[in-house]
Amino acid sequence: MARKKVLVTGGAGFIGGNFVQYMVNKYPDYEIYNLDLLTYAGDLIKHKTIEGKENYHFIKADIVDRDTILALFEKERFDYVTHLAAESHVDRSITIPEIFVRTNVLGTQVLLDAAKTIGVTKFLHVSTDEVYGELDFDSTSFFTEDSPLQPNSPYSASKASSDMFVRAYHETYGLPINITRCSNNYGPYQFPEKLIPLTISRVINDQKIPIYGDGKNIRDWLHVYDHCTAIDLVLHKGENGEIYNIGGHNERTNLEVVKTIINILGKSEEIIEFVPDRLGHDKRYAIDPTKITALGWQPTFTFQTGIAQTIQWYK
Ligand code: NAD
Repeated sequence: MARKKVLVTGGAGFIGGNFVQYMVNKYPDYEIYNLDLLTYAGDLIKHKTIEGKENYHFIKADIVDRDTILALFEKERFDYVTHLAAESHVDRSITIPEIFVRTNVLGTQVLLDAAKTIGVTKFLHVSTDEVYGELDFDSTSFFTEDSPLQPNSPYSASKASSDMFVRAYHETYGLPINITRCSNNYGPYQFPEKLIPLTISRVINDQKIPIYGDGKNIRDWLHVYDHCTAIDLVLHKGENGEIYNIGGHNERTNLEVVKTIINILGKSEEIIEFVPDRLGHDKRYAIDPTKITALGWQPTFTFQTGIAQTIQWYK
C-alpha cells in the first residue's frame, strides 16, 4: 500500500517545527514534507535530529507562488495538508499589515486551490483564538467554536479571512477540511520576539523585561507539544467541516507569566519595565476546549510543568 504523504507548511517555524518532528517520529510509515520559505521566523537548525530520516523531506517554497505550489501538488499528490505557514507576529502586523494579507490570505487560497485540484483526504488549517477578538477582564465566559469572529489586529483579521476561505472551499467545492483555533503557544524553538522566549532570554542575560501597559492582559497558555497532539487528533479523527478550539485552561496575566519566569530563574523582579501599551491590545483570551476534549484530547502539561521544561530548554 502507498505510504501516506503529509504536507506541513511552515514546518521551519515554531509550531510547525515541533509538529514536523512529532509526525516524523510518531509515523515512520508516513512521508512528511516540510514546506517553508525560511523567512526570518524559520530555520532548519532545529531539524538536525530528523534531517537524515527517510520519511522527512524539505521543500523551500513560497505558498503564494501559485505555479510552484500547483506543480508540487500534481507531482507529490499529498494525502493530507496541515497548514501552519503564516506571518504570525501581531506587532509586525501593526507596522506592515500588507505582508499578512499576502501570506496569510493569498497563500492559504493558493494552497486550497492546489488541494482542491488533486483532491486531498483532509486540509487542516491551523488558526488562532485571536479571530474571536477579546473578552473583558471580569468576564467569566470563554471562546467557543460558535463565538462571533471579531478580529482586532491586522494579524487576526488576516487569519479570520483565511478561515473564511477554508470554510468557503468546503461549502462550495466540498473540500474536506478542519480548522483548529488554539490559544497562545509556548515551548521549545519559539522565535525570541514573543513574550515567553523573549522574557527567558532577557532574564538569563540580566536585561530589562518590557511589559506592555500594566501587564494585566490575560492569555491562555498551551504547551506546543499539547498543540501537536491536538492537530494530529483532528487530522485523523476530526469530523469533516468542523472547527475545534484548543486550549488547556491555563489563563495567566502577562505580568504573572513574567514573574514566574523571573522567580524560577532566581532573579529580581526589578528588571521588569512597563512600556506604552500595544495598539488595540486585546484584554483577555480564554478557550472552551469542550469539543476537542470530547474527541479524546487532553493536555499533558500544566503551566507549571510546561514553563519549567521550557526554561530548561532555553538555558
Ligand atoms: P512562526 O512565525 O514561528 O512560523 C511561521 C513559519 O512560516 C516560518 O517558518 C516561516 O518561514 C514560514 N512562512 C512564512 N511565510 C511563508 C510563505 N509565504 N511561504 C512558506 N512559508 C512561509 O509561527 P508559529 O508561531 O509557529 O505559528 C504557526 C501557525 O499557528 C500560524 O498559522 C499561526 O497563525 C498559528 N498560531 C500560532 C500561535 C502561537 O502562539 N504561536 C497561536 C495560535 C495560532
